[in-house]
Amino acid sequence: MAASSKPAGRAKPMAAASALPASFAKLGLHDPADLILHLPLRYEDETRLTTIAEALPGRAIQVQGVVTHCETQYKPRRALIARIRDDSGAELNLRFINFYGSQVKQFSEGNLIRALGEVRGGFFGLEMVHPRYRAVSPEVPLPNSLTPVYPTTAGVAQTLLRKHIGAALAQSDLTDTLPDSLRSRFDLPDFAGSVHTLHNPPPDIPSIQLEYRTHPAWRRIKFDELLAQQLSLRLARNARRAQNAPKLAEAVALVEQLQNALPFRLTAAQLRVWTEIRTDLAACHPMQRLLQGDVGSGKTVVAALAAAQAIGHGYQAVFMAPTEILAEQHYHKLRQWFAPLGIEVAWLAGSLSKKDKQAAAARLVSGEAQLAAGTHALFQEQVEFANLGLAIIDEQHRFGVAQRLALRQKGRQPHQLMMSATPIPRTLSMSYYADLDVSVIDELPPGRSPVVTKLLAESRREQVIELVRERCGAGEQVYWVCPLIEESEKLQLQTALDTHAVLATALPELNIGLVHGRMNGRDKAKVMADFKCGALHLLVATTVIEVGVDVPRASLMVIEHAERMGLAQLHQLRGRVGRGSTQSACILLYQQPLSETARARLKVIFENTDGFVIAREDLRLRGPGEFLGARQSGAPMLRFADIEADADILEQARVAAEWLLVHDRQAAQHHVSRWLGGRQDYIKT
Ligand code: ADP
Ligand code: MG
Repeated sequence: MAASSKPAGRAKPMAAASALPASFAKLGLHDPADLILHLPLRYEDETRLTTIAEALPGRAIQVQGVVTHCETQYKPRRALIARIRDDSGAELNLRFINFYGSQVKQFSEGNLIRALGEVRGGFFGLEMVHPRYRAVSPEVPLPNSLTPVYPTTAGVAQTLLRKHIGAALAQSDLTDTLPDSLRSRFDLPDFAGSVHTLHNPPPDIPSIQLEYRTHPAWRRIKFDELLAQQLSLRLARNARRAQNAPKLAEAVALVEQLQNALPFRLTAAQLRVWTEIRTDLAACHPMQRLLQGDVGSGKTVVAALAAAQAIGHGYQAVFMAPTEILAEQHYHKLRQWFAPLGIEVAWLAGSLSKKDKQAAAARLVSGEAQLAAGTHALFQEQVEFANLGLAIIDEQHRFGVAQRLALRQKGRQPHQLMMSATPIPRTLSMSYYADLDVSVIDELPPGRSPVVTKLLAESRREQVIELVRERCGAGEQVYWVCPLIEESEKLQLQTALDTHAVLATALPELNIGLVHGRMNGRDKAKVMADFKCGALHLLVATTVIEVGVDVPRASLMVIEHAERMGLAQLHQLRGRVGRGSTQSACILLYQQPLSETARARLKVIFENTDGFVIAREDLRLRGPGEFLGARQSGAPMLRFADIEADADILEQARVAAEWLLVHDRQAAQHHVSRWLGGRQDYIKT
């Protein structure tokens, strides 16, 4: 690339605050405050010159010399070659394969050229290919700080970024948002100094500290970012507490009736979280509680008690799930529990006919149905309630923060109970989920025996089929999970059909069902019902059964191509067995060769059954962004801090946020608006 003729990166402040180039929007840069926090990826050192005589091949250096010769070559390829000589008397070729006519003029003999690039041994001696260069006059001084290289995108030149960022630094208010006492408590440098250092580091700064972002200036930036996140989540939580929600404080007969009708007694952990939820419901601001519990820990019944509490007060409750299979299963369970108590349960699913959908919606609008089950999407889009008091959201990790809010913004403020079997490691719950209250069921119902996990190479498939025959012969039921084929839904379907056909041939004595994502809701429900009642011995399934399906008699699960699946998914799948009293097993079939990460994942799932441990390992293997998934795109993502690696800074930021909200709210507000600008809307209620 041809260099600009202006001094690079040392832009003088512009006379007036001019509008940013439109192209900056692509980088999320809308105002000077964004520019201040657009920090370099790396740096180039233009602060010193190396003599050509000392140049070593393979090293990036800056040289300065007088043009002694310039020519356009045509062989072997068209190229512009300019030769320069410096005070050491040595010469260096600058080679350009792509060039403009105007460049030829810059290399007129006698011109002084400053060039930065990697030196290599060329055919005609040392050369630099496409160096960054400019023609200078001898008195142009070297810059006195490292040159920043910013994250950018096509069509936005570094020089343009440097110019505008330089201007923003010169003109913006960089007043510290942190009171001195807080800074000295956590030994943090000041904000203005930190951003100046990071945009224009002095040449003697330890380069390791820059590269690994451990320099105090970096620590300050990460601290600030985490603090902004902590503050905004806490402010959101406080704002929620200022809103009104139905006060569901009385003890209601319905709760007791439901509890008495259950065929089991609640575990101590279930009773404890139920008390926490009941306390929230009794307050007059909306509950936002996350109920965590490993697969099979019995979250559904706790949520049903909460629903009973709302219904007993004359309100409606809704039970939402991410998939229709799961929603339908909840519907049946809720009907089983609530119908005998005289409570009407409505069922709303995409697969219903228009007429049935309208009828169900009408029963909710009129208040005739007190309880509803269905998929999240449906309720969010079209359904009105007579008097909604509680929304229960199952498998919360499948929904993003933004969706969590969409429901809240529907006009009324029901209490919200979210449930997740994907345990959130502490660092994550301290950051992304800090606006939620969390209850944990840390105990499984009695009588469960842990699932035995086996890892088998694909070549032992025949043996596995024999095992299936044995188990089913003994009156048990088996899941066979088909491989996940992310690239192609069609291929995924074909694989499921093939697997079903192969197993049907190998096991002619068994009734074998098939369930996959392309089936309509009614057909899916029929197959699931047949499996549940025992009419099917073996269920071949794509990963649609991943979440929540509850068939206690199923005691064996075979997962094909387990190496393609994520840890959370494997854990969820495996949780489908081990729900009854028989010793259950999960066989993970894998195809060799295994990649290093696949091997690491399989090792984790083989060695662990505790969902929290698995989630922590998952976070370690994947990093938080991935862990949260694209669905969490509404979350205020962190750009600089890494919640695992910077866990110590996160802890400090948490303490600081609490302190600020009590002692200096104005500083807290100032800090949030510097860091989140307009984006804090995401986390306000
Ligand atoms: P999850 O937490 O994964 O959603 P479920 O709510 O589906 O788990 O419960 C799993 C199974 O355990 C269900 O069959 C449920 O009826 C049963 N169950 C729940 N609580 C208890 C309990 N205290 N004792 C025995 N079984 C229970
Ligand atoms: Mg569940």
